[in-house]
Amino acid sequence: MYRVVIDPGHGGYDSGAIGFGLLEKDLNLKESLYLKEELERSGVVVKLTRENDSYVSLNERVSIVNAFGADLAISEHFNAGGGTGFEVYHSIYSPIGQLGNLVASLIAAEVSKIQNLRGDDGVFTKKGSDGDYFFFIRETDPTAIITEGGFIDNEEDIKKLSNDNWLRQYAVAQAIGICKYFNIPYVPYIPEPTPEPPVQYGVVTVSVLNIRSGAGTQYEVLGTLNKGEKVKIANQVGDWYSIYWGDHGGFVYSKYIQVITEQYGVVTVSVLNVRSGAGTQYEVLGTLNKGEKVKIANPVGDWYSIYWGDHGGFVYSKYIQVI
Ligand SMILES: [Zn+2]
Repeated sequence: MYRVVIDPGHGGYDSGAIGFGLLEKDLNLKESLYLKEELERSGVVVKLTRENDSYVSLNERVSIVNAFGADLAISEHFNAGGGTGFEVYHSIYSPIGQLGNLVASLIAAEVSKIQNLRGDDGVFTKKGSDGDYFFFIRETDPTAIITEGGFIDNEEDIKKLSNDNWLRQYAVAQAIGICKYFNIPYVPYIPEPTPEPPVQYGVVTVSVLNIRSGAGTQYEVLGTLNKGEKVKIANQVGDWYSIYWGDHGGFVYSKYIQVITEQYGVVTVSVLNVRSGAGTQYEVLGTLNKGEKVKIANPVGDWYSIYWGDHGGFVYSKYIQVI
């Protein structure tokens, strides 16, 4: 199994770059945690140089990388100071297509799908007076790279950097690049399917309907419902429905409930009044125009109560064509 150290740059009193109210150290940590998740799902063993907002010296970071026996070390940063887009640094001793250059190029190619690249291809080296300029690249044993995901003080980049969805996509891009480098499959996140239980509603069809503590007339009456009242049905138990009612629900005889399904309709007259009640004697709250679509809550005599505004309203059902 491949081993990677992710190094969230800065931390503690060292905030790194600052822009639009965001601190680089926070972005670096968030991004690193996302990347850790992406890599671990793909079977990579990951260690972080810091897991919270604490100061860790460069020497400590390098010690952690070397002690872990990492195959790759990646330091997560975001830029500032005039510019836009992504850049990644690798060792001056990595020829094109090999190790540092290879992993940097693979990552940049993926990141290019969601972020501009700086320069020709986003891939850079920086020479210091004694080999590599960057301590993290120079002093670590394994192949090491530094990514700069964008400019925290740039108006365009900040739209991405302040968006958690984008940060997640950025972690995915980096993880895919790293997996390609290791020649292992990247395992994407597949959300658990959450089947929506079918929600059913019903309307009481008798003048008074008992709500009981169990599915039978031998059970205690907890309360009553009146004709036309709407109930949310949990499930059927023999000839009874268990319904959502109060804190604990109750049971009603199913023959006295007319099940209604979600219905939509279209207005068939040029102007249709929306009233406060099911009759022309009620106040006109507003109007609908021909062709407008309405969501019908339930029929009330010759009228429909509909979802409308904050409190709903009533429309004459003959002027609604159910779709
Ligand atoms: Zn930085």
